Amino acid sequence: ARAEGPARYRFHTDAMALAIRERVDMESLLRHAIERNQFALQYQPRVDLASGAVLGVEALVRWRHPVLGLVPPARFIPLAEETGLIDDLDMWVLDEACTRAAAWRAQGLPPLRVSVNLSARQFQQAGLAQRVQAALARSSLPPGCLEIEITESTVMRDTAEAASVLRSLKALGVALSIDDFGTGYSSLSYLKRFPIDVLKIDRSFISDVTADANDAAIARAIIALAHTLNLEAVAEGAETAEQVAFLRENGCDEIQGYYFSPPVWPEQIEAMFARDAAV
Ligand code: C2E
Ligand code: CA
Ligand code: CA
Ligand code: CA
Repeated sequence: ARAEGPARYRFHTDAMALAIRERVDMESLLRHAIERNQFALQYQPRVDLASGAVLGVEALVRWRHPVLGLVPPARFIPLAEETGLIDDLDMWVLDEACTRAAAWRAQGLPPLRVSVNLSARQFQQAGLAQRVQAALARSSLPPGCLEIEITESTVMRDTAEAASVLRSLKALGVALSIDDFGTGYSSLSYLKRFPIDVLKIDRSFISDVTADANDAAIARAIIALAHTLNLEAVAEGAETAEQVAFLRENGCDEIQGYYFSPPVWPEQIEAMFARDAAV
């Protein structure tokens, strides 16, 4: 028992040292990932419930590390946000997504709107609208083909500032959506003042929507709210036929979820349309 104290203590500091080293390693790996071209985008289709047509895709970043493999965003976005690396990453994503969407247009794919996630940090920096405009100009993508997703908590941090940034983005002609809607701040008055086009109902309300009466009530209320304000309602994370039936019956406009497709590589999006065209 006498050895236990120091041994445990050593274990503790070793574990801490390891955690710190891992973080530092991760940070330097992440720092080099852009220049080493290790980021890639998958795209998840968004489907119109009335027509079944794919109207858009959400760009979702992946880190392809030679040793770590395909790293999901949950494992590096928080670190990228803490270290500020997210600034370069989000701008890389924006450029890449605009370039891809412009290439799809040029290849004759049906018109698709590509949506891109922006972190709260982007939102707090001056010149966001200019950077978005520059990405559109570089790719020659029409602004109406780009949608920017920001979370409810991002816009609620400073609503006056948010309203002005959103207005300058809107002035470019891009579409704006509120991501993870329903999970953030519950003041709804801002919706009236923001030039928003889309509410994305958070997956946490959809996963149990056919079993949990509260989730069903919330989903219905968000759809009704969206329509009252002339916005589109998009349900995230629809996985089952029952969930899709519920969403259709309750007038949800679009779904994005594994039921139709998980996020896929660009070639698979192209194949999806090639298949449709062949039918
Ligand atoms: P998000 O913006 O809410 O994206 C939707 C997430 O839900 C994606 O996870 C997607 O793969 C997942 N999903 C979609 N349908 C289903 C479904 O039916 N079932 C389940 N279980 N999951 C589904 P992913 O790709 O791991 O991304 C996680 C989060 O990372 C995103 O959540 C977003 O907040 C962030 N993220 C991804 N790419 C970027 C980016 O380029 N920039 C920034 N700032 N954040 C990003
Ligand atoms: Ca999103
Ligand atoms: Ca979301
Ligand atoms: Ca989410």
